[in-house]
This record gives sequence, C-alpha cells and structure tokens, in this order.
Amino acid sequence: MQIPMSAPDITQAEIEAVMEVLCTPHLSLGPRVTQFEEAFAAYVGAKYAVAVNSGTSGLHLAVIAAGIGAGDEVITPSFSFIASANCVLYERATPVFVDIDPLTGNMDPALVEAAISQRTKAIIVVHAFGQPADIDPILAIARKHHLVVIEDACEALGAQYKGRQVGTLADVAVFAFYPNKQMTTGEGGMIVTDNAEWAALFRSLRNQGRDVFNAWLNHTRLGYNYRMDEMSAALGLAQLRRIDELLARRDAVAALYNDQLATIPGVDRPYIAETTTRMSWFVYVIRLPNGPTRDYLMAYLQEQGIPSRPYFTPIHLQPFYQQTFFRGRGDLVYSEMAGETCLAIPFSGVMQPEEIDYVCEHLRAGLERASESLWPAPRARINSLR
Ligand SMILES: *Cc1c(COP(=O)(O)O)cnc(C)c1O
Repeated sequence: MQIPMSAPDITQAEIEAVMEVLCTPHLSLGPRVTQFEEAFAAYVGAKYAVAVNSGTSGLHLAVIAAGIGAGDEVITPSFSFIASANCVLYERATPVFVDIDPLTGNMDPALVEAAISQRTKAIIVVHAFGQPADIDPILAIARKHHLVVIEDACEALGAQYKGRQVGTLADVAVFAFYPNKQMTTGEGGMIVTDNAEWAALFRSLRNQGRDVFNAWLNHTRLGYNYRMDEMSAALGLAQLRRIDELLARRDAVAALYNDQLATIPGVDRPYIAETTTRMSWFVYVIRLPNGPTRDYLMAYLQEQGIPSRPYFTPIHLQPFYQQTFFRGRGDLVYSEMAGETCLAIPFSGVMQPEEIDYVCEHLRAGLERASESLWPAPRARINSLR
C-alpha cells in the first residue's frame, strides 16, 4: 500500500466553481476574491480579510504593517515552519527565537519577557499543528511593552483558544491555503484584522502599491504582486462552504489515530492544552523516545510505502540560518529536542480507516524492530530478566 502524506478534500462543487471562473473574462481582480474575503472574515469573526497569494506573502505584509524595519527585533518561536521567521528577514529585521513549552510545542509565554530588548517591535505567535498558543500572557506582555502581536494562524484555521476564534486574538492574523492545510486554494493566504487602515494598506501592498481609490498605475508605495487569482478564490469559497465538514473529517481521523496509538508503547500522542477549546487538526505529530528511534522508524515506514516527516526542524538549525547567524545548537533546548523526536505521520481529512490501520500496524512493528536493532544488548538483558 502507498499512503500519501496528505491530500486535499476536493468535491464536484469545487471543480465546478473553478470551471465557472474559466468561462468568464475575469481570471484576476474579479468578484470572487471579494466574495471569498467577506465570507472568510465572517467565518473567523474579524472585520476585514484581505486575500493574498500565499501565507508567506500575508506574513510579509503583516510585518510591514507593524512598522518592522532594519535593525528591529521580532520575538518568535524557532520550532515552526520557516516562513514565520523569513518574513522578518524580508524587512531586514532580526528574529529572536524563544523556546517552546515541551508539551504543546508552542512558544513558552514565560520566556517572552526576557527576550525583549530596546529594539523589539513585535511578537509573531505561531499556533503550531493547529493548536492555539497560550496567547493571553503574551498579549499582556506585549501591551506592557507596546509591541504588535501577529498571529501566524497558517496551521490553525477554525481552532479556538478559551472559546475565542484563532485569528481574532491579536492585532493581525495570517492564514494559508496550501493543499495540505485544513482548506486549500492551491496556493493562497488570507490576512485578517479589525484595523481598517491596515486592511487598506494590505490591499495596496498586494497590488504593487497602488492606492485603492487611486487611478490605475498610480503607485503610492513600494508594493508587490501578492494578488490572489479568481480560480483560487472560487476554490476557496467552495471549500469555506464546507469548512465544518472539512474540520470534522480531520477530527475523525485524529480520533482514530488517538485510539490506536494509545496501545503502542514508545509513541507519545499529541498533547492538547486546557486552553485549547477547539483543536483544528493540521498535522498529526507523534513523539518518539529519541532521535535514533525516530530516524530508524522513518526509514522503516518508507519501505512500507508510508511517508513521514521530521516536523518541525527548528528554524535556527536550518542550513541558511546556521550559515547566516553562525548559531550553534544548544540554546533552545526543548525546540531542539522536539526537532529530534517529533514525527508527522500521514494525515488528511480524506484518509480511510484501512489506511490508518496500515500506518499504525507498521508503526508498532517498526518500533519493535527499532529497539531490537538499535539497542540489542540492553534488550537481550531486559528479556533475560523477565
Ligand atoms: C503553511 C504555513 C505558512 C505559510 O505557507 P505558504 O506555503 O506560504 O502558504 C506559514 N507559517 C506556518 C507555520 C505554516 O505552516
């Protein structure tokens, strides 16, 4: 059996929605983007939503709106997808990494204040794996120090923190619609905010710096082509109409994994914090006892047609960051530990129960083999003591 790492959930409704666009003359800058933005803002519960062509583009524009520039510092976790730190580098500012809570994998609020300096401008909070970060203490620190707070909500559409919807928790939030996310537009992203000036700024920046009510080709500021096209927006609208179903399917797959993995020794299942009143499953990430076991298991699973990924490799350990900042290992202990022991296994809303059985069966077998081949001597000794 060959299991995909992830797969989008596309029905006839999505196919027809995109085909309809192709029968109109408006493939970009048309009505679908506006409709998608309005529906998305309503779903999240924010005043404004601005569609862009990726989550990374959205984060970049949020960083610009926050006034972050050369020499500034932005506090953010290293245990994340690289875009949440790269967006700081795009504006020649410096990401200052703080460690994570080892249970949730999200930024540890207790470490934030010590990371603040005279140059700190903002905090980018990442809701990793679809679980909201513990943001209330972070918001309190940010208020005290007059810092902007950006939610990287790219993995957490639909999640709730203490009953509040992710995306409405801070000054601005960014969602992403790459095909492995909870809903997809192919490539795409959405910035949400209650700030009217920022919303207008985002509309200008995504469209080459044109002012929204200005004449065509009147470029007021340095802008970008970060526009979402109409096919993507139509796909997004169709997916958003099904969002409750899309999230429920992912819940069901995660529940099956939770049940089956409970009986496999050596596998730690995802930890759900008390503050998470609604989890939005993006990936299913297990913890293994140590790095060698994780790496052995990955190779074993691959032979069985089961892909898996170390997720995340901490950003400060990525080759580009190591080369650019000459950092070593060792200063973000829990992030690095998670980077060695976390493993994302195949996951999507369209995953079938037989596929889940197959993955779990081989996880069990792979872990047994790992302990036999990695530590044969202690294993034999334990057996002799039995
Ligand atoms: C997916 C993701 C993004 C944005 O990704 P794009 O591919 O640019 O849409 C940003 N941050 C995190 C944490 C993500 O998982």
